[in-house]
Amino acid sequence: MTNYYLAIEIGGTNLRYGVVDEAFQVLEFQKEPSSLLSDAEDKGAYIEHLVSPYLKRYGREQFQCITLSLASLMNRERTINYNSPHIRGLDHISLTEILSKQIGLPAFMERDVNTALLYEIWHRHMDSSGIIIGIFIGTGLGNAMCIDGKIYIGHSGSACELGHIPVPGFTRDCGCGKKGCIELKASGKALHRLAENLFHCPVSEIFEQYGDREEVLEVVRACAAAAATEITILDPKCVILGGGVVEMKGFPMEYFEQTVRENLRIPNPRESVVFYRAENAPEAGIVGAAINASARMRNEI
Ligand SMILES: [Zn+2]
Repeated sequence: MTNYYLAIEIGGTNLRYGVVDEAFQVLEFQKEPSSLLSDAEDKGAYIEHLVSPYLKRYGREQFQCITLSLASLMNRERTINYNSPHIRGLDHISLTEILSKQIGLPAFMERDVNTALLYEIWHRHMDSSGIIIGIFIGTGLGNAMCIDGKIYIGHSGSACELGHIPVPGFTRDCGCGKKGCIELKASGKALHRLAENLFHCPVSEIFEQYGDREEVLEVVRACAAAAATEITILDPKCVILGGGVVEMKGFPMEYFEQTVRENLRIPNPRESVVFYRAENAPEAGIVGAAINASARMRNEI
């Protein structure tokens, strides 16, 4: 009987990994700095070294697959990593192929925003019919969409790049290779710039110390404008709001919600849309990766 998932979340700071059972309960959970994977010459060997104690303890035959969650642009089939901004050496490779050869199990991967939304829907026992949106304001502006229980990845696999919609008249270079993306105004990066150049404070204190300053509110309004754009097009049942910026002390949730609603049509979706705050659970990435693998194995995605 193969019951377990070897699940790994490769984040910008931490690599979290462990064992998740078929009911998506976490049996094992550990973390390492992601820099170790970044520095590793042989990514497959490094990941095998992390998970081999689990394979020994539980027996390889108990695992149905290895499943990953990471911030990476990838193809529609989720077999090729085009670009992974946080980890060196993960561009234009197939991490799933490397791992399935190295570890001897089927391998799956999905974008971190999508596994985060899958986790939220599962954790909240939400009815997944209709459209559920995730907006994750972290270093960048992350976005995910679940339509009738399925994560929407688009024709080429690159849907939901909400951070990279253009702002008319804005021409600053974005890390994605384009100019004038809204993420430059609506993200932790924008707050970081203000903290460093204007307020000279740790970015984590920016809402507490300078939350009423126009420059800070402008970043919140830009996030709200992006959210309102998506809500206007999709009329979702609800929006799950998360990410490091939302978790920061003093994040003006009410002002954000109010600004989103002001930018929505009357009466709906202005009145109908519901906001939830994401759980900031450390194990969300690995559980979401397991949920994704389960759906993939049942051909539900
Ligand atoms: Zn961009």
